[in-house]
Amino acid sequence: MSKEKFAGVKGMNDMLPADATIWQTVQQTAVGVLERYGYQEIRTPILENTKVFTRGVGEVTDIVEKEMYSFTDSMNGDQLTLRPECTSAVVRSVNEHNLLYGATQRLWYMGPMFRHERPQRGRYRQFHQLGAEALGMEGPEIDAEMIIMLARIWKELGVGDVHLELNTLGALTERQAHREALIRYFEGNQDILDEDAKRRLYTNPLRILDTKNPEMQDLVNAAPRLLDFLGDDSRQFLDRMESIVSAAGINYVINPRLVRGLDYYNHTVFEWITDKLGAQGTICGGGRYDPLIEMLGGRPAPGVGFAMGMERVIELMRECGNVPQKAQTDVYVLHHGGETQVKAMLLAEAMRDLGVRVMVHPNKGSIKSQMKKADASGACFAVFATEDELASGTVSVKALREGATVYAEQTTVALDQAADAIAKALSFRAE
Ligand code: ATP
Ligand code: MG
Repeated sequence: MSKEKFAGVKGMNDMLPADATIWQTVQQTAVGVLERYGYQEIRTPILENTKVFTRGVGEVTDIVEKEMYSFTDSMNGDQLTLRPECTSAVVRSVNEHNLLYGATQRLWYMGPMFRHERPQRGRYRQFHQLGAEALGMEGPEIDAEMIIMLARIWKELGVGDVHLELNTLGALTERQAHREALIRYFEGNQDILDEDAKRRLYTNPLRILDTKNPEMQDLVNAAPRLLDFLGDDSRQFLDRMESIVSAAGINYVINPRLVRGLDYYNHTVFEWITDKLGAQGTICGGGRYDPLIEMLGGRPAPGVGFAMGMERVIELMRECGNVPQKAQTDVYVLHHGGETQVKAMLLAEAMRDLGVRVMVHPNKGSIKSQMKKADASGACFAVFATEDELASGTVSVKALREGATVYAEQTTVALDQAADAIAKALSFRAE
């Protein structure tokens, strides 16, 4: 037999039980807020036809150019891609199932995304996004509502100061005029452009503004700003959104260089950034993508959405000391094996009927070693279903934790009343 011990795929992490509570807390908190705004869950497959992303994300983007896990299905030759983001997939699904005919949709999703990036803190090859899409609604009120909703999520998670950067990408004609100006500007500075920028000069010059190359920062800082090319409609869209966000008491800065990684945005773009996570400080990005639904074959309809990086939000929770602890069980049942174990298991079932979390000691063991396990489980109560106790139709209950006030000492309880009594004692604790 081979003794090889396997390692996971580079950049793809296991979520171990010790981290489950913090994941659940983040998801439950976020979804609890989303539901208060009428969002419903959607799940799409992890694989899509590659075209969904080449068209939906855009050919000249980091994601499509160098980050996608794409392959040919050896069974039938289909070109498939592990989803690098979910907006395109959600729109594909909404179009396919005609969910926007005479309706609007507010949808949320959570799941793994895949990008072939260089792994580092906060940047993985499998990571998780929790996101939402508001479809069929023209802004800017819905854009503002989404930002207000996200501020509420940060507040309820207790992650402190996460700052908001806003920008607008205007409308297509404005972007075209801006694009001409950008190309002229960068053409005049060819010597400063890096390889990526040169390649994008005529295909997607807007993306040059998103460069992380320090040697190009001065150049992009002085580049023509889309803000100066906005027409009245786009200006008003931005003003109205800003005024609602301000009225809700949310601070923000306008960052004219914020363009974001995906191609299909117009009007609003935003990012939420923390300075507690170093270089990978953007925990959430989003914006409006009115052209996308039609680009993916649907009837024209507007859309706006966001995606937060779960790993980054969880890391931020840790940085803030928000690490909720949850014991594995409320009650641990000890026994002497044989018939006592069967009685213990049946008593546990009676407790579970009442909603109590119970573990019965597996197999045999001395009461002393079982007590060690009971203690390590974090249970409030140990229940002894021993030969002697059961012979007299009772079990005894011992409080293991401070705060389990009802059974301060070891107490004997009739077997047929034990489940009720313990459930009551636990709800007494919760009050
Ligand atoms: P970046 O500029 O950091 O590469 P991006 O623009 O590619 O980000 P989006 O596509 O907007 O990111 O994804 C939304 C969010 O998902 C990001 O703000 C981030 O929190 C998270 N995210 C993106 N890529 C990764 C990754 N490789 N690992 C972990 N989280 C990620
Ligand atoms: Mg990226």
